[in-house]
Amino acid sequence: MTFPSPLKLVTLASALGLITASNFAFASAEQQQTTWLHCGNVIDTAEGDTLDQRYIRIDNNTITSVTTERPSGVELVDLSAKTCLPGLMDMHVHLDGEMNPKSYIDGFTLNPADLAYRAQDFGMKTLMAGFTTVRNPGDSYNVTISLRNAINQGLIQGPRIYSAGKSLATTGGHADPTNGTNADLMGDPGPKEGVVNSAEDARKAVRQRYKEGADFIKITATGGVLSLAKSGQNPQFTEEELRSVIQTANDYGMHVAAHAHGDEGMLRAVNAGITSIEHGTYMSKDVMKAMKKNGTYYVPTIIAGKFVAEKAEIDGFFPEIVRPKARAVGPQIQNTFAKAYDYGVKIAFGTDSGVSAHGDNAKEFQYMVEAGMPAMEAIQSATVTTAELLKNDKIGVIAEGKLADIIAVEGNPIEDITLLQNVSFVMKDGKIYKK
Ligand SMILES: [Zn+2]
Repeated sequence: MTFPSPLKLVTLASALGLITASNFAFASAEQQQTTWLHCGNVIDTAEGDTLDQRYIRIDNNTITSVTTERPSGVELVDLSAKTCLPGLMDMHVHLDGEMNPKSYIDGFTLNPADLAYRAQDFGMKTLMAGFTTVRNPGDSYNVTISLRNAINQGLIQGPRIYSAGKSLATTGGHADPTNGTNADLMGDPGPKEGVVNSAEDARKAVRQRYKEGADFIKITATGGVLSLAKSGQNPQFTEEELRSVIQTANDYGMHVAAHAHGDEGMLRAVNAGITSIEHGTYMSKDVMKAMKKNGTYYVPTIIAGKFVAEKAEIDGFFPEIVRPKARAVGPQIQNTFAKAYDYGVKIAFGTDSGVSAHGDNAKEFQYMVEAGMPAMEAIQSATVTTAELLKNDKIGVIAEGKLADIIAVEGNPIEDITLLQNVSFVMKDGKIYKK
């Protein structure tokens, strides 16, 4: 028996993921970095409380102490006139674009690299608005998977991203990438391109997303407003296809989010075990009941509804096939949100930014409070509830042992929720991005 050479051992260890090039080379040079924040108030999202005068110690990327005792002999980041809260999370953003009258030809004119540069800029706008974690349910060319990787590797800056890659649709359904094109361009996209028409296709499409590095799966359970198709609400997946998507995704440790406006498609998705319903426009009591029973999250996206309703009144902003859908669906979502909240459906914060402008995410809080949700609960829907949805117990709360994702605003957002639209301090993973 011969022993491998030390070089081979290092190579083997790297291949097994035991050592990475960077920690091998720099482990000894790495400095412990300690930061202290002095917060006038801290929102305790776990308990639904506001605590005053807290000192927060951060070592590297982790909160190591939250105390009322002023530490001596250290430099404090002065947030004493501000309220600190955990970094906010948005469960529905599309970082690779932003709606405008020319959006419908972008697919014919833009290259993947064009979308990638946009995604980086929109990601920064989102982070600077206080959203340190986002879920991206659907993109083109897996741009947000690459963006996530580049951010995690420290190559560029941006929020923590959970990406679904390409959304899964059925032929002609919302998110079929060739809807509305001429016959030559239309082709016949299949599971690899995210279009499924059987349980078998569904399995393959989910596995393809896994292979491409998706964190979760997004499906379009019903028609949608912005696609070049007639119905904005018909069911578009069979029960068998839904079960196949969800079972396969769960096998790979992924959850499934369903875009849905119409009631029937929503009910099928909830009964099949979907994790979240996005938009939920025509949600009936039966659906709410099923969601409550199954613990399904509702991601309302009120701001997207308001945006499309407003733009539908401008000639030429949307293609004519989209306009009546935008007029009908748009104004409904805030009412649906109010009913679902009253009924006790779990609400996870989400905006569909990329329809509305990136960086405006916090306006959603104002619409939620307007519809009857107390400010504290609105903040919890974007912190503790979203952490639970993402199964990430390191974020959503300012407490010892959690990742240091901390933001601050002037004044007290529990008294005035619109203050969240003006975030003046952003820390993600222990690093300060805005001060
Ligand atoms: Zn969306």
